[in-house]
Amino acid sequence: NADAAMYLAKEQGRNNFQFYAPELNASILSRLKLEMELRRALDAGQFELYYQPKLEMADGRLNGAEVLIRWRNDAGQLVPPNRFIPVAEECGLIGAIGDWVLAETCRQHAAWRAAGLLVPVLAVNVSARQFAQPEFAENMGRMLAELGTAPAAIELELTESMLMADVRRTAATLERLKELGFSIAIDDFGTGFSSLNYLRHFRLDVLKIDQSFVRELLQDRAALAIVQSIIALARALNLQTVAEGVETEAQRALLQEQGCGAMQGYLVARPLPASDFAAWLRAYNKGRPP
Ligand code: C2E
Ligand code: MG
Ligand code: MG
Ligand code: MG
Repeated sequence: NADAAMYLAKEQGRNNFQFYAPELNASILSRLKLEMELRRALDAGQFELYYQPKLEMADGRLNGAEVLIRWRNDAGQLVPPNRFIPVAEECGLIGAIGDWVLAETCRQHAAWRAAGLLVPVLAVNVSARQFAQPEFAENMGRMLAELGTAPAAIELELTESMLMADVRRTAATLERLKELGFSIAIDDFGTGFSSLNYLRHFRLDVLKIDQSFVRELLQDRAALAIVQSIIALARALNLQTVAEGVETEAQRALLQEQGCGAMQGYLVARPLPASDFAAWLRAYNKGRPP
């Protein structure tokens, strides 16, 4: 670790200031360690995908599932994405991780289909850096063709800030993605700092109502008003709505009453490893008329 700190100090082209700021030093070192571990994680097969079902409000039909990455680190702990995706973004590993997520998602979709389990659409989270690639849409199309998956089986979850980074380019990219057959969701809708004007210019399919609004739905009139507005807006623009983070029956009932289209959250199921998801879906299907 002394070597790593020395390297870092040298790389920054300064003297040994770092050695005299122990706290800073420790945080830089742990960050460096995380980066090195992440670099190995792909080759070591330490990433895992979890799947969380989304249900139609009206009839309980499976709308699809969201794909959520986890990392089983050297210590065997399951690390949630918020702890490593931002680092992967910063150090440029997100491209390789994103490619792996897409490939594994396609493989899993095909495996379930071969086993007679129909999961209409798998929704994949895209990072800002992936989306900013000049050839993002073409690359996605090419990868899916190589993987033998129909783009209609894949939904891409994007955030407002990603869309707003370069509005003109975004419009063209979304146009191309739609041509290829992907569907597009805005994740965490309502939490970004963006003008509503962009909704007129972008080809979108789904607004995912952020879980912060859902959580406060029954306690906070403002949260309810925001959810009502999102649903009204979506309806007027012919977009679907999915409520995220639905944990209670009271939230579900209120969302349904307000006309929300679909839901995702612990009330339905937690994100599950592939085999548990398959078992969950089989049991779920069994309890429903065909
Ligand atoms: P997100 O896309 O908004 O995903 C929803 C998050 O809410 C997930 O956290 C999920 O486990 C959690 N969640 C679902 N239902 C409930 C609920 O009822 N209550 C509560 N409290 N939470 C619920 P997770 O899996 O930790 O993922 C966090 C974020 O990491 C995701 O937020 C997404 O932005 C990012 N992420 C996850 N997988 C990937 C990936 O493969 N690539 C990229 N670039 N980002 C990813
Ligand atoms: Mg998401
Ligand atoms: Mg979200
Ligand atoms: Mg989020």
